Amino acid sequence: QPQRIISGDRRPEDVDAALRPKSLDEFVGQKAARENLRVFISAARARGDALDHVLFFGPPGLGKTTLAQIIARELGVGFRATSGPVIAKSGDLAALLTNLEDGDVLFIDEIHRLNPAVEEVLYPAMEDRALDLMIGEGPSARSVRIDLPRFTLVGATTRQGLLTTPLRDRFGIPVRLAFYTVDELERVVTRAAGLLDLAIAPDGAHEIAKRARGTPRIAGRLLRRVRDFANVAGAATVDARAADAALNRLEVDQLGLDAMDRRYLMMIADIYRGGPVGVETLAAGLSEPRDTIEEVIEPYLIQLGLIARTARGRCLNGRGWKHLGLNPPAEAGQ
Ligand code: ADP
Repeated sequence: QPQRIISGDRRPEDVDAALRPKSLDEFVGQKAARENLRVFISAARARGDALDHVLFFGPPGLGKTTLAQIIARELGVGFRATSGPVIAKSGDLAALLTNLEDGDVLFIDEIHRLNPAVEEVLYPAMEDRALDLMIGEGPSARSVRIDLPRFTLVGATTRQGLLTTPLRDRFGIPVRLAFYTVDELERVVTRAAGLLDLAIAPDGAHEIAKRARGTPRIAGRLLRRVRDFANVAGAATVDARAADAALNRLEVDQLGLDAMDRRYLMMIADIYRGGPVGVETLAAGLSEPRDTIEEVIEPYLIQLGLIARTARGRCLNGRGWKHLGLNPPAEAGQ
């Protein structure tokens, strides 16, 4: 299966920690979220208390992990990271929690994928900073309560609605991350180019920003690939023309859509005459997991107004037809 250059998913090259902003001041965009966090962090610090639990939700690559690390750094506490599917048993979570130090940030990515038994352990941990352990079996079994250090749980998920209600209710600070504007991504690209020691013209940064699907991780990835093309071509500075040529080679179009996005749009247009068509049908037709379609492909296409999610399924909008260079079918016979 071909890797998508524009998918928001994490890839090894993104482990390039050098590009991650290290403070709220360095973090570009998400202004409301940033300013609120700043207030909550300084209030917690002033009280000498742990920060309330934080839930970040939004499409992959928008900075949830980065913000979790920044929170720990700004609080001046330790940072531990894990992810929902990795915590197999409640004992694993108990071990993690009892090893925390006072005030630590525990980051759980993909928190909606915790198994239910593990999630049960999390409730008293979040609410009362306590672990309820069962000792023994049968009639002599009893539960003992262990106090935990004060800690802040930072959870990340793609959509808030994926969490169970009891879990969602235990986060005092829910933060929605939205796609970045082109201006914001331009700053992300310019900053990253500086860190990569790459000369980039403002119009070059703009071209990459425009085609990065509103996502900093994608902006960083496109920048690296554009740099490769520029290096090979012997260009001293990346300008709009160099960026455009490289992005065309990568089959990232003017709106930042890649081959996968176009395949998705074409399937609705071509086979389902613009829809509505159910997401399961699309998933089967494209051989992609439903999750990928809903969490990675669709949010940006909806944001651009190319498609709509309706109760009866997905529909191509006028803008979608136009982007494909096609005409919607005539109304007759519908
Ligand atoms: P998520 O956890 O939401 O999938 P990450 O926090 O891992 O996203 O961010 C992906 C990459 O994008 C990081 O490597 C980071 O360098 C970059 N990034 C994210 N948000 C910003 C931002 N606001 N400013 C600059 N770079 C960012």
